[in-house]
Amino acid sequence: MADDPAEPPGLDVELAASDDVRAVAGYRVALQPTRSQVRRSAPAAGKSYDSNYGGDDNGGSDLQRSTASLSNFWNQGVADFAPVKRPLRSGYDVVVVGAGFSGLAVASGLARSGLSVLVLEEKTVGYGASSRNGGMVGPSFHELGMVGLTRKYGEEKARSIMRAGIEALDYCQDLFSSEGFDCAFRMTGRFRGARSEAHLRSMIAECKRLNASVGLPYEVVEPSDLHHHTGSRAYKGGVVYPRDGGLHPKRLVNSLASRAEAAGAHIQANTPVMGIMRDGKGFQVAIPSAVLAARHVVVATNGYSDRRVSVMNDRVVPIDVTVSATRPLGEERVRAMSPRFHMHGESGRIFIWSRPTPDHTRFIFGGRISNPSAPVHIQQQQIATAVRRLYPDLTAADFEQIWNGKIAYTTDHAPHLAQIDGIWLIGGYCGSGVTRSLYFADKLVRKMTGQPGSETAFDDLGFPHVPFRIFAPFGARMLTRYYAWLDRREFRKAGELG
Ligand SMILES: Cc1cc2nc3c(=O)[nH]c(=O)nc-3n(C[C@H](O)[C@H](O)[C@H](O)COP(=O)(O)OP(=O)(O)OC[C@H]3O[C@@H](n4cnc5c(N)ncnc54)[C@H](O)[C@@H]3O)c2cc1C
Repeated sequence: MADDPAEPPGLDVELAASDDVRAVAGYRVALQPTRSQVRRSAPAAGKSYDSNYGGDDNGGSDLQRSTASLSNFWNQGVADFAPVKRPLRSGYDVVVVGAGFSGLAVASGLARSGLSVLVLEEKTVGYGASSRNGGMVGPSFHELGMVGLTRKYGEEKARSIMRAGIEALDYCQDLFSSEGFDCAFRMTGRFRGARSEAHLRSMIAECKRLNASVGLPYEVVEPSDLHHHTGSRAYKGGVVYPRDGGLHPKRLVNSLASRAEAAGAHIQANTPVMGIMRDGKGFQVAIPSAVLAARHVVVATNGYSDRRVSVMNDRVVPIDVTVSATRPLGEERVRAMSPRFHMHGESGRIFIWSRPTPDHTRFIFGGRISNPSAPVHIQQQQIATAVRRLYPDLTAADFEQIWNGKIAYTTDHAPHLAQIDGIWLIGGYCGSGVTRSLYFADKLVRKMTGQPGSETAFDDLGFPHVPFRIFAPFGARMLTRYYAWLDRREFRKAGELG
């Protein structure tokens, strides 16, 4: 299913990408078309699209006809969940806004507690990040690391925040096996490559701290052993995290939706919430055809929030992430790229993550590797330019499917559960929401129903407003460019390609 705008028509000029597009110190697209090529491309291009890596735009990369489509690999062979059709009632105990991992998991738990629950989803079930992500599962540690967290909150709090990552992973492993979810979940381990020797030293130091504080297992990968873990020659060494894995996110969405319906929740797709108003002790929830009464409202719209759910929108910054699946490469080639079929990440402020598909026939790459507002053929070039640093043998034509999604960043880099003006909020996972959303959903259900075990390490952090929210998406784009520039400068200084 193509869930994004149709691909714009390509141009009729044949030009091999490898002749014209070079990665220069990072991911900049430095294209040197000849004068005649510029002349030929100018009328159709008419517009330049900055890559998220700052520097140059696509130049003449749109000279090439695209072989990619704006479509999501995870939709291939997996139908959108079709909720059971039933009439809406005038009121519910709980209305949940958003049918992603968070909303669906909260709905199951609340319905199992005997509450009447309605999930309202503007588009299709799982339309947001939940069916667009990398499907990588792990403890999702706080971005500040042990040192940053200790500086900010003290050692005890830092340890409890990091421990929550392990608890979330344990919770999800139990959930997947006890519920028998058909979501291709495998504990494959994750390899994280160090882009410089300094990065390797600091990665190992952080692993030692996490091992001492919360018992995180890890294995150091020496440069001589890199070929056992990755086919990329971009790294100076790395670390393997055995307690990381992968799954098929859309199949997880569908499993969660089936479970919510089986528990008695009503899921209503294609029904946007237009506004939420306080009404005495409860709420009125406006949808296009009616105003529904709800004793409680849970907002689970994460990076897809807007003014209609301003209580969430004011607290998160949406950031666009690009994902691309290669054409079928065959298991041999995929094994050469990932000998142990690990999940893959790397050091650096702006980085690329990647993984084999669950059937090991293709590779998926993700990160801030293209400009999502650019036409697909330009995104294809930008992705190829970014990925060339890792796999110089992959050309633009290898990136067959491209899709984009929105993650939700918070000012303190932490996910949040909170009740604000009586409305429950769950989200702000900062790009690591597979395990966090399910763990938080369980905690939220416990809080709402007064069950024990509802505490989280994040409870006293509130859910801070984003200052100057209206400018935040622009600010985030500028910050991404700045970080990419810092990365390039750092690698240049170290005399490494990075
Ligand atoms: C490209 C990408 C890659 C990622 N990779 C990983 C990864 O590998 N591992 C990991 O742990 N995390 C990853 N994440 C993050 C993870 O996918 C998210 O944190 C998680 O899916 C959030 O789930 P959610 O249910 O909170 O929100 P979403 O899945 O975004 O769902 C929000 C839903 O709310 C709906 N909505 C919005 N407004 C309204 C309204 N007014 N009325 C009704 N419905 C509304 C939207 O349509 C949407 O379906 C990635 C995210 C992206 C975008």
